[in-house]
Amino acid sequence: LCMMEKFEPVLTPEELRSRLPSWPYFIIDLQLWDGHTKKEKGKLCFQVNQSYGLLKDYFTGSELAITWAGEEFRKTFNGPLDRLTVYEGPTAEFLREKKIEEVVLLDPWAEEVLSEKDFDVKAFIIGGIVDMGGEKKLTPKIGEELESAGIRVRRRKIVLRGDVIGVPDRINRILGIILKMMVEGKGMEEAVYEMQ
Ligand code: SAM
Repeated sequence: LCMMEKFEPVLTPEELRSRLPSWPYFIIDLQLWDGHTKKEKGKLCFQVNQSYGLLKDYFTGSELAITWAGEEFRKTFNGPLDRLTVYEGPTAEFLREKKIEEVVLLDPWAEEVLSEKDFDVKAFIIGGIVDMGGEKKLTPKIGEELESAGIRVRRRKIVLRGDVIGVPDRINRILGIILKMMVEGKGMEEAVYEMQ
């Protein structure tokens, strides 16, 4: 008995999990799905599938969560629906279920530039938006919706030499830039060049 007392107690699964690295969620928010044409919806699905491919090279793929994923999305998407996280409800509801209170929203209209300090959040949100030219100010709406549901939102932009011009705005490219910075430890410039 005396000997036994020298050993550390066995960890509970909960304690064990807290010692393992936990990957954040990368959420593609589809709340603006209905505002897209059929062709754009097809492109959006394609970019979601590309994002899944990218993510499973780094993690498992299930860290990719698609929120506001209605029936039309599920029908149009011809990727492995069962390997990613598909959530029909609002993003804020998904976050609440996962006990996530603060997120980074990738937003080309943000004031602040994404940095290493932002890599401590448990979820990154990318707007499920396809608009060539990108002059419409749509992503901030996603931020407002989250904030009104009580989520803390850090709006962050990705820039090249101080400007969003020159940064590819496709969802999968944006995800690729974050992954190169976060997992490979690359600087923003380098990550952007590699994803162009
Ligand atoms: N005009 C749209 C808007 O208002 O944001 C452009 C949407 S862009 C095609 C799709 C998503 O990619 C955005 O919602 C955002 O999450 C992300 N994104 C694109 N360019 C970005 C940048 N320079 N910095 C941060 N996020 C960006």
